[in-house]
Amino acid sequence: MGEAMDCRGVDLSGAEIRGDLEGRNPPIFLPRQPAASPLVALDIGGTLIKLVYTASCEGGGSGAELRFAKFERRRLQECFDFIRAKELLGCNGTRSGKENVPLKATGGGAYKFSDDFREKLGVCLDKLDEMDSVVSGANFLLQNIPGAAFTHMNGQRNPVDVSPNNLFPYLLVNIGSGVSILKVTGNRKFERVTGTHIGGGTMFGLAKLLTGCKSYDEFLQLSQKGDNFVLDLIVKDICGELVCQKQGLSTSTLASSFGKVITSKKRLTDYKPEDLASTLLSAFTYNIAQIAFLVASLLGLRRVFFGGSYIRGHKSTMENISFAIDFWSQSQMQAVFLRHEGYLGALGALMSYGDLSGENLTLEESKEKEPHHESAAPVDGILSDEENDSNIFPYLLVNIGSGVSMIEVIGKGKFERIIGSHLGGGTILGLARLLTGCSSYEEFLELSQRGNNLSVDLTVGDIYGEEGYPKIGLPASTTAASFGKVNSSKLSDYKIEDLAAALLNSFTYNIGQIAYFVANLSGLKRIFFRGAYVCGHEKTMDKISRSLKYCLSMAAMMASEGRGWESLRSKGEVQTTFLCHEGFLGTLGAFWSYENMGIDSLAAHEVIREVLLGAPYTGQFPSLPVTEQQENGENNTLEGEIESLRNSNAALKAEVERLQSENAELRAKLRGATL
Ligand code: ADP
Repeated sequence: MGEAMDCRGVDLSGAEIRGDLEGRNPPIFLPRQPAASPLVALDIGGTLIKLVYTASCEGGGSGAELRFAKFERRRLQECFDFIRAKELLGCNGTRSGKENVPLKATGGGAYKFSDDFREKLGVCLDKLDEMDSVVSGANFLLQNIPGAAFTHMNGQRNPVDVSPNNLFPYLLVNIGSGVSILKVTGNRKFERVTGTHIGGGTMFGLAKLLTGCKSYDEFLQLSQKGDNFVLDLIVKDICGELVCQKQGLSTSTLASSFGKVITSKKRLTDYKPEDLASTLLSAFTYNIAQIAFLVASLLGLRRVFFGGSYIRGHKSTMENISFAIDFWSQSQMQAVFLRHEGYLGALGALMSYGDLSGENLTLEESKEKEPHHESAAPVDGILSDEENDSNIFPYLLVNIGSGVSMIEVIGKGKFERIIGSHLGGGTILGLARLLTGCSSYEEFLELSQRGNNLSVDLTVGDIYGEEGYPKIGLPASTTAASFGKVNSSKLSDYKIEDLAAALLNSFTYNIGQIAYFVANLSGLKRIFFRGAYVCGHEKTMDKISRSLKYCLSMAAMMASEGRGWESLRSKGEVQTTFLCHEGFLGTLGAFWSYENMGIDSLAAHEVIREVLLGAPYTGQFPSLPVTEQQENGENNTLEGEIESLRNSNAALKAEVERLQSENAELRAKLRGATL
């Protein structure tokens, strides 16, 4: 049976949001759109199904309005019931032969669930490319809906005026289960420059396991009431206030998310779910913001739009993203949010009704465009024979301690810190402690060795099916979202080995990816890794090597297709060399000694350099609820002062405890060394 061509389009003229301007996903009024014949489009992602449809206006009258609904992907039946109940397929007789009218759908589920739609609803899906749809949806909102975009900083929400003249180019960071980052240069003109598998699926997956929360809203509410300083290491925890003052460091800079867990005797159940939730939210939000900043810098873009259901209109999330982008870019970049952030793909799919150009690539058509990965041979991390100590400089030194520091070393004793990441060894081991109960890094590595990350990681194949998403070079086996497959809130439902394997994968890959961006940004062609947490551990180093290889092969693939990043293309082939581990250093002998690498003088500042320029932190507790006392301005009372002294006392005690255990550790090491 042939499919009928659907010639109905969406008339966007005069589109506007009516009613509550502050509300979430308000209907969009389309004055010239006939209400009689409903249009519906779907975006079936890795976690959520998003649905946009036209309906007659709430208060009656001419025109129609766009409405929005979402369902969990695992509850597909609810989506079918909704479509039936709302008579969105024209069962009221406005459409004849509904079997013949295709339904516009995007996202991996459009491919995976195509048969279910045919069987259950008797409708076939017209599958549209996901990235194409996301960009069309964003451009539709930005160009047609006044008040669709806004900034959110220092508690202030301000509309952003975007006119077609000043809109392009921009960076679109779509935070769903995983994260896609796109450079948009016009209507239907874009490229997916990169992405990360540490996204909403990762945060929510870990949130379920750590806090036992059952819904995303419950998680967000928990995070509002929590204090991430209970688990996070900040610069002050490491250097002490005095050193910070001397060095002019901000004491509240986030040094290592979950970093305090390692030195604490507490178990998972000893932590408050609120504090765990707050730590998770800041850890992942800052990481995504940092990657967005690095990519925007590489591409020379100043405006970064954030989409995807991760944001969910949540104030602290937007505040943290805005603060981070502003901090790292020194106010040169702006983070912008969208009112209908979660519905970009579905809106884009809806826009394609009446588009007869046939430009929407289906998966089948796009297969021809599948990139050849083999030809994009990455440069491996092998030190070439010609290396000598005169040509070693400049290079990027990635020091993986509790947090990660990235330092540009330009000559002997000449170096400059560039940036850091708060997702370092402390984060990996801290989370490993909480999730697996392991007591040492060795034990964690040993566990990870026996585990299978696929029982918790969501792959492109899980979302799209066995074909994967070839158009953007993502085979079915690629991880789309670490921990994205976690559905249960019961930690005991998962094997600790599998959790360890997923942890190692996700966070080491993240370090490799960030290092790659930073090296590119600084024009550095060599990267050396060192640090207590990873060095000497082959599997960890292997993961980092793989992430760099992957980044390089993606860049090479894009360059070979003539769509490479300007910054990469101009440098020609990117040569990345990296030093595997301390042991490796040893085998190379004195030639590769720290002195020859020019980093000997760094060692003197070991502690400080581990943490510098990690994630920014406001230094306030933006997510903490204001207490009655604070609200009444009673903070300066004697009670308030006593309370604050008590807090400082507790913090000092914790510091003393930490120093004592560090001291004991050092003594043990010393004993070991002299034996
Ligand atoms: P996808 O297309 O991959 O499903 P979305 O843009 O829909 O991506 O975002 C999914 C992410 O949004 C989740 O991983 C989670 O972080 C967050 N989220 C927001 N609301 C919900 C919800 N009701 N249920 C689950 N996750 C949600």
